[in-house]
Amino acid sequence: MKKIAILGAGITGLAAAYFIQKRFGNSVTCTVFEASDRAGGWIKSIEHNGAIFELGPRTLRSSKELDALVKELNLEPLFAAHDAKKRYIATEGALHALPTSALELITTKLGRKILFALMKNSFCSKTAADDESVEQFFERRMGKSGCDTFISALTNGIYAALPEELSMRSCFPAIWEKRTLFMPAARSFNFSRGVEMLSERLSQGLSIRYNSAVDRVEERIDSVLVNSEPFDHLISTIQPSKLLRLLPESDPWRPFLSVPTTSLVAITVAYKASQAIPDGFGFLCTKSEDANLLGIVFDSNLFPKHNGGYETRLSVMFGGSKNPELAHYSDAALVAFTKEACKKYLNIHAEPDFLHVTRAVDAISRYPVGHYKRLEALRGNKRRISALGSGLTGVSVGDCVTQAYECVYKKIDETLMSP
Ligand SMILES: Cc1cc2nc3c(=O)[nH]c(=O)nc-3n(C[C@H](O)[C@H](O)[C@H](O)COP(=O)(O)OP(=O)(O)OC[C@H]3O[C@@H](n4cnc5c(N)ncnc54)[C@H](O)[C@@H]3O)c2cc1C
Repeated sequence: MKKIAILGAGITGLAAAYFIQKRFGNSVTCTVFEASDRAGGWIKSIEHNGAIFELGPRTLRSSKELDALVKELNLEPLFAAHDAKKRYIATEGALHALPTSALELITTKLGRKILFALMKNSFCSKTAADDESVEQFFERRMGKSGCDTFISALTNGIYAALPEELSMRSCFPAIWEKRTLFMPAARSFNFSRGVEMLSERLSQGLSIRYNSAVDRVEERIDSVLVNSEPFDHLISTIQPSKLLRLLPESDPWRPFLSVPTTSLVAITVAYKASQAIPDGFGFLCTKSEDANLLGIVFDSNLFPKHNGGYETRLSVMFGGSKNPELAHYSDAALVAFTKEACKKYLNIHAEPDFLHVTRAVDAISRYPVGHYKRLEALRGNKRRISALGSGLTGVSVGDCVTQAYECVYKKIDETLMSP
């Protein structure tokens, strides 16, 4: 019987363990090592006064592997309300709605910027470079103003980082490959008791060792040692910089594991009395808008079934590359920033009835230009160790599930079948 170890019970580790059980059944034993006393990693949902609050991911984006997994686990997706499609960009101190109709492309300032970008893009030649920054890619297609407005808001929302810090090839692979301006459309969803239902359901039936931090990993010819215990293969899903600390000085992967990260602060606020917030999903700030704020998600518009005893619920996101130090500020300072942002952009003067601060220190990887070479080095060698997770390939929950699926169905298969 083959033995596989998995490092980390976040969504990547849980999905990998699930796929291994599904594919190999009793011919493989799979042990998940988790440093904390719970499964889910950044996924965490809490209930308060009948409402569901997310401390990590707020929404899941539909994708092939994630949708199939949700179905297999018999989970019922709770889709975001239809009218939550409207999105805003905060620039020059005010919110501007992204156009939702052909007419708005002509009649609104943002719409005209998009039309200009579309025209410029149709004359744009393809680059011969094997990678470039998100800023370089979009500036050629939309001009500086279009990139600073739309793309810096987008990268703030997904990576909490600036377009100049990110690799186009690694951060937006679908757009990079097709060289178009469009992201594939996908529905946003959650579950009746929050995103944590996914990690909870996945962890049932898996062999997880909680409070079991791994502090040493060493590959031998016939095994890989995890805290001195031999396994046939190890799947690491922890941040690459953390894996680096576990490997011996001589390990060939060491030069490739220093992936930069950024920290953000997510503050959940809720009001019992209804606040007059705009329709829609929420807003993102451009890179020059506000020194600290990344954006605000209108949670009560997205999933009204989660509102419980509150009328208005918001997620206020600060930090990232705008100010990574914010994650180390006091609660009092962060609460003051939150109230100020709610007043400035949403005209909310009321005191929140519920507030929760999450400090996501080094939580989001920033894949720099040329990151793909690191992945080639890590994936190219035939080893008894596989490295995946949000630290390396895609930060969304959907990306994590896809990586786990591909690892189990493509890489591990070969490893187990080899003599
Ligand atoms: C505030 C916030 C909001 C987000 N919003 C969204 C969103 O709306 N939609 C979306 O799709 N994504 C979102 N994300 C991103 C997404 O949640 C993460 O990228 C994803 O959950 C990461 O999963 P993972 O399994 O790769 O890593 P993690 O969740 O970090 O799991 C790694 C696990 O490994 C364990 N571990 C670490 N070191 C060791 C060790 N030495 N030994 C044993 N165990 C160890 C940790 O305790 C942890 O449980 C958000 C992230 C944050 C922080």
